[in-house]
Amino acid sequence: MAKIVIYNATEVDKQQISQGLASTDHYWEFCDQPVSPDNIHHDAEVVSVFISSKLTADVLRQMPNLKLIATRSTGFDHIDLDYTSAHGIAVTNVPTYGENTVAEYAFALLFSLSRHMTPAIDATKRGIYQARNFVGFDLKGKTIGIIGLGHIGRHSADIAYGLEMKTLAYDLHPDEQFAKERNVEYVAELDDLLARSDIITLHTPLLPSTKHMINDQTIAKMKDGVILLNTARGELVNNSALLRGLKSGKIGGAGLDTIEGERFLSGDHLATSLIKDNVGDEAYRHACEVRILQHMPNVIVTEHCAYDTYEAIARINATTVENMVQFWYGQTPNLVQPKS
Ligand code: NAD
Repeated sequence: MAKIVIYNATEVDKQQISQGLASTDHYWEFCDQPVSPDNIHHDAEVVSVFISSKLTADVLRQMPNLKLIATRSTGFDHIDLDYTSAHGIAVTNVPTYGENTVAEYAFALLFSLSRHMTPAIDATKRGIYQARNFVGFDLKGKTIGIIGLGHIGRHSADIAYGLEMKTLAYDLHPDEQFAKERNVEYVAELDDLLARSDIITLHTPLLPSTKHMINDQTIAKMKDGVILLNTARGELVNNSALLRGLKSGKIGGAGLDTIEGERFLSGDHLATSLIKDNVGDEAYRHACEVRILQHMPNVIVTEHCAYDTYEAIARINATTVENMVQFWYGQTPNLVQPKS
């Protein structure tokens, strides 16, 4: 029997996870909030978190009995894996819950940008008829470049195929069979994709090797007016470079479900940080950039919710319960292996 603490728990999470654990003899508690200094359970043996719970060495040190972190996400860059591996703490994730869900959202962002949905809805609500101001562009015949053709990238390729787009892909591990079936052209060099794509969508994990992969140099290699979509991780894109690209018109629009400094999308978080005066120079810059990007007419920023459908949440919770239950039987399905 283990003490499990489930952070970031919504009402749906509570219902689904309680149901999943009901037949076990584990003891579990829910906490609605992310992990913070105020709500650390020092006797927790298992914690389950979502990405806004930053499990740093400082936090983990305060849970000396911890044996398992079951993150309810695919990404695990919110967990200090150096600390967990040095202290024998297992980390599991949910590798495949949202492949269609996130791909659908990436295209929702793309449709919104290509057809100016936000200003069109806004103008219509205000009773202003100015249809000529919303001239968009077709997706059929356009070239989409997918960086990272994994689970989500492949679903994006499927959707692009249905829309009769031309698809380029860049991935460290090409799957030629999939490419043949879906008419995807793999490029050997990222530069080739950057130069030829009308739309670029990011679907790689955040790793030391992918951090700021979109920067001044890579943006300079893109087509003029390119649309950039990021539903993967904010830190893949250097915000300052993105702002420069948007201001100069090099980038025609951006759809960002993930953005560097996204914690500052919460006005509460920003206010609290400013009041406590614990916003460092870099974080302060991110906070400003997030606010500027949010208000640009050709940018859509959402609060990391591409995964958020009822079906995807049910898949996340089912896998997380399985990860936690199996761990106690000596199994570790979906064990996270640190990568570079
Ligand atoms: P995946 O592991 O199936 O695919 C990632 C792909 O990226 C792999 O094919 C891998 O080979 C490739 N890759 C890795 N490093 C690369 C590099 N340097 N250059 C090119 N390709 C590289 O992951 P997935 O399920 O498709 O998810 C992708 C990312 O989406 C996750 O890591 C996560 O960060 C993010 N995500 C976001 C949300 C959201 O709500 N916004 C939800 C789920 C996942």
